[in-house]
Amino acid sequence: MQDKITVVEALRKINAELRLLPTERVPVSAALGRVLRETIIARESIPPFDNSGMDGFAVRMEDLAPVPARLRLDGDIPAGTEPQIGVKPGGCIRIMTGAKVPPGTEAVVPVEWTSEVEPGLVYVNRCPKRGAYIRLAGQDVKEGSPVVSRGSQITPPVVGMIAAAGYQEIEVNCAPHVVVIVTGDELHLGADELLPPAKIRDANGPGLVAQILDVGGLVTGPLVAQDNPDSLIQALESSQSADVLIISGGVSVGTHDLVKDVLAERGFRRCFWRVRQRPGGPMLFGKLGSQLVFGLPGNPVSAAVCFLEYVRPALLTLMGAAQTKPPFVCAKLGHPVQKPAGMHHFVRGKAVRQEDGQLVVKTTGPQASNLYSSLQHANCLIHLPENCVNPSGGEEVKITVLPWATID
Ligand code: AMP
Ligand code: MG
Repeated sequence: MQDKITVVEALRKINAELRLLPTERVPVSAALGRVLRETIIARESIPPFDNSGMDGFAVRMEDLAPVPARLRLDGDIPAGTEPQIGVKPGGCIRIMTGAKVPPGTEAVVPVEWTSEVEPGLVYVNRCPKRGAYIRLAGQDVKEGSPVVSRGSQITPPVVGMIAAAGYQEIEVNCAPHVVVIVTGDELHLGADELLPPAKIRDANGPGLVAQILDVGGLVTGPLVAQDNPDSLIQALESSQSADVLIISGGVSVGTHDLVKDVLAERGFRRCFWRVRQRPGGPMLFGKLGSQLVFGLPGNPVSAAVCFLEYVRPALLTLMGAAQTKPPFVCAKLGHPVQKPAGMHHFVRGKAVRQEDGQLVVKTTGPQASNLYSSLQHANCLIHLPENCVNPSGGEEVKITVLPWATID
């Protein structure tokens, strides 16, 4: 039997198989989570012209010495309208927020500082500073300057910034197409209230689909395969267009764990099976043609943690992201943890920041890999490496915050 490999080796073997996905042009509004393959240069300055920061009146400074001052109302400039006249001595022009300031404007007086007691006359009660409430062209971004660089992952404000810079479509790496296959004769897929005897509900299918969507992948599934070769083959055949295949269950050493054999018959190139880790020890990885195949153990915490530690970074790498893993953070372990040597433990933890600023992390309780609630209530994974034995509490440990969680 092939030896189990370490977490580091497993990551290295996966990385060796990853190729950047090709690029495509997508509408900016559909680019969230993708990685930009071109640098965005501002087509114009932002804002493109001097404009008013308030609803108010465009004025000349010398007409306001002293205040209160009485000014003639010479016109009106709504947003989006080219001014037809300038500000003349003794006069002012009504202007809306975002409207282009007319020639001769030295400040904008907010409407709240004025009163219009009779039509055509504006009383200014307070004097603004020269230049007040005029937003200058290019104040935010200068025409021709780079606003978002190649390789950036697209967040909601980046979408807005790219649109503001004058782009409707952009070049990004394709999103990986991922198929999820869940295996197991025990899975009951109906939504009936009554669970048939000896059956369980499928947690991994929807859970893994959600993780794929969260990282920006395109997903098909979950497809369901019974624990027999024909059913598995059928699921594999309908997954051929995928870049990445995730199979849940059936990769361990049970007599009904057929995934390895069925894959092998179809020409699967195994890169590794079994990692010195808990949960997720029986994890399988390799390639079926050009497809990357992750065989994740069926226990829900094993499947979810293997996704977080291996599949998620792999998908991000395919998508061109520079940052594929959450950074390690140091925390003080709040109590003893049982852990044999020689195995990397990903422990579900709840980290809390104490009043003195120190992060303290405790486990979310029993850590068996079938206890999904231990992950649901966690905000981090505690990483106890192979060489660590039964930490007694009080020592510094490394944690990673779960992508959907925060530390209070
Ligand atoms: P396996 O990896 O197929 O040996 O499954 C290990 C454990 O995970 C068994 O207790 C299965 O019943 C359970 N399991 C497998 N697939 C799923 C699933 N999709 N949802 C919830 N539990 C599952
Ligand atoms: Mg099974």
